[in-house]
Amino acid sequence: MPTTPWYERAAELRIDGRAFIEGERIAARAGTYFDCRSPVDGRTLAQVARCDGLDVDAAVASARAAFDDRRWAGKAPAERKKILVRLADLMLDHRDELALLETLDMGKPIRYSRSVDVPLAQNCIRWYGEAIDKLYDQVAPTAENSLALITREPVGVVAAIIPWNYPMLMAAWKIGPTLAAGNSLVLKPSEKAPLTALRLAELALEAGLPPGVFNVVPGFGDEAGRALGLHMDVDCIAFTGSTRTGKEIVQMAGQSNLKRAWTELGGKSANIVCADCPDLDAAVAAAIGSIYFNQGESCNAPSRLFVETSIKDAFLDKALGMISDFAPGDPLDEATVMGAIVDPIQMKTVLGYIEAGKEEGARLLAGGRAARAESGGLYIEPTLFDGVNASMRIAREEIFGPVLSVLSFTDLDDAVRKANATPYGLAAGIWTADINKAIRTSRALRAGTVHVNQYDNDDITVPFGGYKQSGNGRDKSLHAFDKYTELKTTWIGVS
Ligand code: NAD
Repeated sequence: MPTTPWYERAAELRIDGRAFIEGERIAARAGTYFDCRSPVDGRTLAQVARCDGLDVDAAVASARAAFDDRRWAGKAPAERKKILVRLADLMLDHRDELALLETLDMGKPIRYSRSVDVPLAQNCIRWYGEAIDKLYDQVAPTAENSLALITREPVGVVAAIIPWNYPMLMAAWKIGPTLAAGNSLVLKPSEKAPLTALRLAELALEAGLPPGVFNVVPGFGDEAGRALGLHMDVDCIAFTGSTRTGKEIVQMAGQSNLKRAWTELGGKSANIVCADCPDLDAAVAAAIGSIYFNQGESCNAPSRLFVETSIKDAFLDKALGMISDFAPGDPLDEATVMGAIVDPIQMKTVLGYIEAGKEEGARLLAGGRAARAESGGLYIEPTLFDGVNASMRIAREEIFGPVLSVLSFTDLDDAVRKANATPYGLAAGIWTADINKAIRTSRALRAGTVHVNQYDNDDITVPFGGYKQSGNGRDKSLHAFDKYTELKTTWIGVS
């Protein structure tokens, strides 16, 4: 029986799985629930409201009323700032509780949910709150007889649909800019990890956000998610998730009211290490650390590693020496760095890719098996394939698990061509001591973020999003406001 102090705290949690509409906890109108199970040990955490179209209608009506009477949009930006900063403070006050919910719900190690997810999520909300009373609109350089104002207005009712891999952070990336800009929000968390989103809505109310401005409808994609995608009174849909679902979201926008549809989708990011890499140890640590962090369930994980042939053996020696540090452990043990896979479906998908890699002739150098079965949870060993070629499924498709595919190269141009030969374009990396090579390669890589001689920098000040089928929007930074605001021109005649 596991004994870390976090188990005692987990036993004390009282989890409310009901939806959050018009500032209140409420059961799904049909009275339906689904089981929210923990991948840590298989325990049932809560019964969560299984919202459908009727619940979505109620949440959208609540958000619409809140927007139309300007209870939030009409507040001075400085007032909105105060409330969002208060929400960020409350998130820090509830840091342990939020971290524990996140870990139990989706399996990531408590050390990271506490030191990475909560701090980044609260910082995101704080940052947008802090930004909103420092942004100015524009006056156009028109002739004397007129004044033309170019102003930003909130787009209205925003629906956000988010995935399960960073549930709180993905929620924060939507909550921060949408609410700071004065919109009302209906958030649908993933059915695989709905708990922190529900708690954030309660904290937002406590921080002073008026009821109706932020509603949460937990449920399944083809029920609550689809109802939001097709809703005629949603002005904008902000989606983060798989490319397959993203395509449906864009179609739903077209089939309904042509709501603005923003997509932040999957990836198959390439990390290229040249023989003149300035620090091989750092390159190995970044390659390994970035693919196994969050159990490999990161959209920008560098899952394709291109290593120049002359340094490949040295690289792999170092990598294999480091890989046991990532052995999966109990997510509620603070020493654990790799936790559980979110659910049995994802577990099956990842193990299926490992089998495909073996069948297609890649060399399995480490891992490859399920682990910690005795825990009752879902775990996979950190897995490394060498001898991968670009046509194998493990080199082409997003696995979203702790699986690294190593490809070697002798010609950098060819490596860049292969790196770009994917429908995705979320992130990429290049390691070289040659500044010209670094700049030429970073320009040639078709990805929303390119890392040079590191892979883990991240900050709220920079935009995050993809080229090609990795999506069309950008989360984070001031650029995110473009998604959640309309640009209005007002002509004023001057006599
Ligand atoms: P998913 O597409 O299965 O689900 C995402 C969300 O969409 C969930 O809330 C789900 O319930 C909902 N959904 C599913 N089908 C729907 C439908 N038909 N209509 C409306 N909503 C629907 O993705 P996932 O498995 O939750 O997340 C993993 C994916 O997310 C990976 O591809 C990953 O790369 C991507 N991701 C991207 C980013 C980014 O910023 N680009 C960040 C995190 C994750």
